[in-house]
This record gives sequence, C-alpha cells and structure tokens, in this order.
Amino acid sequence: MKILVLNSGSSSQKASLYDFTDPLPPSPTAALWDGQVEWQGDRVVLQTRNSTGAILNALTRGQARVLSSLSELDVVGHRIVNGGQELTQPTAITREVKTAIRSMSPLAPLHNRAELDGIEIIEKRMGDVLQVAVFDTGFHSGLPEAAAVYPGPYEWLRQGIRRYGFHGINHQYCAERAAQLLAKDPAALKLVTCHLGNGCSLAAIQGGRSVDTTMGFTPLEGLMMGTRSGSVDPGILTYLLRQGHTGQDLDEILNAKSGLLGISGLSADMRMVVSAMQEGNARAKLAFEVFIHRLRSGIAAMAATLSGMDALVFTAGIGENSAEVRAAACSNFAFLGLAIDPAKNLTSGSDRDIATTHSAIRVLVIHAQEDWAIARECWKLSLAAKAATQKHYNEP
Ligand code: AMP
Repeated sequence: MKILVLNSGSSSQKASLYDFTDPLPPSPTAALWDGQVEWQGDRVVLQTRNSTGAILNALTRGQARVLSSLSELDVVGHRIVNGGQELTQPTAITREVKTAIRSMSPLAPLHNRAELDGIEIIEKRMGDVLQVAVFDTGFHSGLPEAAAVYPGPYEWLRQGIRRYGFHGINHQYCAERAAQLLAKDPAALKLVTCHLGNGCSLAAIQGGRSVDTTMGFTPLEGLMMGTRSGSVDPGILTYLLRQGHTGQDLDEILNAKSGLLGISGLSADMRMVVSAMQEGNARAKLAFEVFIHRLRSGIAAMAATLSGMDALVFTAGIGENSAEVRAAACSNFAFLGLAIDPAKNLTSGSDRDIATTHSAIRVLVIHAQEDWAIARECWKLSLAAKAATQKHYNEP
C-alpha cells in the first residue's frame, strides 16, 4: 500500500512516501522517498508557492521520481497541528472534517491554512483518493482537567481557551517504542518524554495516556526553544503592551526572536550554541544554561504528576543528538537514582538505553518517527475502510 504523508510547517513542507506490506513490521521502516520544500519570508525555494503541487510533480517526474502516476497512491495522510477537542482521533477527511479544521484555524493560523491547502490540492489532482487527518493535539485530548484548565476566568474554558498540547504524534509513538525497548506492558509504565527539536515539549505518560504536557493553548508554552521563548511571566506582555508594542510585535518577539536565538544572539541551532559556549562565548553559555534549567524543572514537574518515572525518553533533533543536553538534564536527577553511562551517552545510531545498568530510571534515546506513525494510522484506516466495503458487498 503506497502512502504519501504531508507534514506542513509554517515555513516548510515535508513529504514522505511509504510502501507498507501486510503484516506491518513492529518498528518503523524507512520511507521510499522524502521531499522537503522551504520558504523563508518572501523567498520561496521552489518556483511554485504551493509546495504540495511541487511535491506531487517531483513524485512522478524528473530524476528522483518514484511513481509512474499519482494513481499509484492508495492514501494521503496529513499531520494537522490543532484539531481542538472535536477532532482527536485519526480520521478520513470529509467536507465536515475540513470545516472543523477550518474552524480551528484561529488557534493555529499558519499551520491549519497550509494543511487545508494541501488537502485541497490533493483533491484537485487525485479526486477521491482516501485522505486521512492525524492530529498533533489528539494524544493530549484526554488530559485530566487539572492539567488542561488555565487558572483564568472560567469563561475561558467555554471559549476554547485551554491547554491542548502538541507533538502528540511523536510523544505517543515514543511511549509505544519505549515499552517495546523495555519489553514492558505500556499499561504499567510511567514515562517522561522529551521532544527537543526546533520546538520543544515534554509529556507525562501513564499507562500509554498523556496526563500532562508542557505546551498549552499554543505551541508557545513551556520549555525554551530555538526561537520561541516558552513560558514567560504574562505580566511582561501587558507591560510591553503599555509601552506601545502591538500584539503583532509580541507574536514576533515570542515566536521568532526569543529562545536560544534571543539569548545567545547567535543561532537557534543547539549545535552552534554549544560550540560557541565551548569557545567561551558568555551569551551562548547563558542560553544553554537557561535551556537546561527549564528542561530540568519541566522534567521534575512531569515526574511529580506521574508520582514516579520508569524511563526518561529523549527524542527529536536535540534530544537524539546532543549528548551535552542529555548529560546536563540528567545530572540533577542523581538524587532519584538516575544515572546515565557517559560512554553510552556519546554513542549515536539506533534507538537505545543510555542509563547505567544500576540506574533506578531507564534513559532512552528514540528517533522521532512522526511521518511513519502518520502512515501507520493511514494504513489502519484504509484497511478498516476496505473491510467495511467488503462486508457491505458480502451482505445478503
Ligand atoms: P527537529 O525539529 O527535530 O528537526 O530538530 C532540529 C534541531 O535539532 C536543530 O535546530 C538543532 O538545534 C538540533 N540538532 C540537530 N542536530 C544536532 C546535534 N548534533 N547536536 C545538537 N543539536 C542538534
């Protein structure tokens, strides 16, 4: 079964093509083809503004083509950033689902608009091919109320102002993969998963369910990130508004001029920050230290919600690759009996346990597999749809 996964960001669009055979292997297989289109500000890297169109062309034309025709695709899956409280489970895209995604646009304007554009281009080019939406908020939709509700006026909740949480597709995948690596029943595990990439978030996962997470109403809450501030005192924002800043200024400051970039003044990339710190750059050192301070606080908060922690999981660009970040984050948890093996921490490659054999808490590094996880949901829905059609035909 050929499955195309489209993953739209605010400034880039990734596409991966998978070819799944029955039965599905328990751990991820490599994509048959990967593509990426990026635009920065007004500068569009491909000739066409619409990257979904460019991706479809690249699949069937030119040197890197992998399909002779788009009709070979069985399913197209989309990562939808915010499905709100209505759209939580992977679902076949219908007119009603599109309307619901559109209604969530005010909460994720850049993402949901790009995602809807992608869906409509596929419709135009491929007619009624099965399209599936998988929601990044879905895994967190069962957060206990104590974790989901903001302590503002109760009216906020009625307006949909609550904590949604993001990166759910990868947090959920990591929880399953951790159970597999530890050879434990997911129902028996308490996990803290650290998704540390361009965006950073933590999740507290008990029995395979998300019970707390650091991102909230938007992907701005919680940990310090590459260019995003994470949580700051809301009083700073009202202060800046009174100083004459506009809402748009604040959006720009908090999303694009803060975080590692804002503090270091150098880069949003952890590699650059660590290497500048090692060369003695004081602001890079400060950026690293603030990042680690907030990461440790967040991990402790998640562990407190769980009332324990069987394993700490590191995933995404920084989590998978930065031995410095993992070592610094873990060093303050020795009082819980957590110990990483310095030699194992320096290894790279496949999913692995980097804790010492005596550590009271396992420490896992798991490669983020968001696109494969989306493709797997498409596969499940497609098989269910085929079985339903078969049943319909077989009925007397
Ligand atoms: P992601 O969003 O998962 O693609 O992660 C992207 C981020 O991972 C980049 O902005 C870098 O900050 C970080 N990253 C990638 N490779 C490394 C590395 N070897 N060491 C530290 N950070 C890395």
